[in-house]
Amino acid sequence: MPVGTLATVKTLTPLQLEAAGAQMVLGNTYHLHLQPGEAIVAGAGGLHRFMGWKKPMLTDSGGFQVFSLTQLRTIAEAGVTFRSPRDGRIIHLTPERSIQIQNSLGADVIMAFDECPPYPADREQVAAATERTYRWLERCVNAHQRPDEQALFGIVQGGVYLDLRQSAAQSLAALDLPGYAIGGVSVGEPPELIDAIVQATAPLLPAEKPRYLMGIGTYREMARAIAAGVDLFDCVIPTRLGRHGAALVQGGRLNLKNAQFREDFTPLDPSCPCYTCQNFSRAYLSHLVRCKEVLAYTLLSLHNVTELIGFTQRIREAILCDRFSTEFAQWLEAPKAAHVAA
Ligand SMILES: [Zn+2]
Repeated sequence: MPVGTLATVKTLTPLQLEAAGAQMVLGNTYHLHLQPGEAIVAGAGGLHRFMGWKKPMLTDSGGFQVFSLTQLRTIAEAGVTFRSPRDGRIIHLTPERSIQIQNSLGADVIMAFDECPPYPADREQVAAATERTYRWLERCVNAHQRPDEQALFGIVQGGVYLDLRQSAAQSLAALDLPGYAIGGVSVGEPPELIDAIVQATAPLLPAEKPRYLMGIGTYREMARAIAAGVDLFDCVIPTRLGRHGAALVQGGRLNLKNAQFREDFTPLDPSCPCYTCQNFSRAYLSHLVRCKEVLAYTLLSLHNVTELIGFTQRIREAILCDRFSTEFAQWLEAPKAAHVAA
């Protein structure tokens, strides 16, 4: 899922997203609550109509963003209180309120409001957050007003403590939710720890339900997670790199600001079907990036989203032909393990 934080995947139109192969787009509850507010989105007929995206959408719960505001919040069993960084007003976000906002936004998949502990955090703190996440999930399920239209996913927490992760996954699996997510990863821990969490947790979630790894989306992370049974990812990398003048090409990164591209009249990737690669050279893209022309960000984001979605499409085809482990062997090696928490 490309990330459409404020009801737009930055620099791309919905038509371009469809051309890139996007099947689903993510919106951020926290950001949309602050601006324009869920009442305006609901007034427009929901998030799909508001942003002109007809395919599936997912909203997160706002938990991840709120828990990133370390200086601005107080946490209690009822929920989280924080000061809006936008206008300074005090906002209470509870499991019920998050679900109410997501019911108003109207995405097809909505996420439970969870407590995302920081990294590093000691075991007691993470255990308490994981237990609270479970209690909050029960409140989310009870608060959900549109269960026939919106699938509510639960989120596995547990930090880097694999036994906490595993018991959380087992408790959630028993609830027979429409889907499950692994959250609280990519919060500063090293790649081998993220990998250990995914490998230990994903297989415990029901295979017949969608399994979603939150905030992850590089080649190796996705390939390894897919091998462990993950189905769904979101990541800002393709559009963020695009806005920084970089392109994802065949597993590597090209920085278009580098001098070598000034007179390179070949496409970013001759084998890529995207509009950018079919019509423009590296030299032209390099020129646009140097001039900070807005079109550079659109063309690079379009290519990057096409490239990463194409990677998952090729994995899907390889799985269907039973060629995944051989064809993607280079992406399936474990990241180097420095240490793994018990
Ligand atoms: Zn391309």
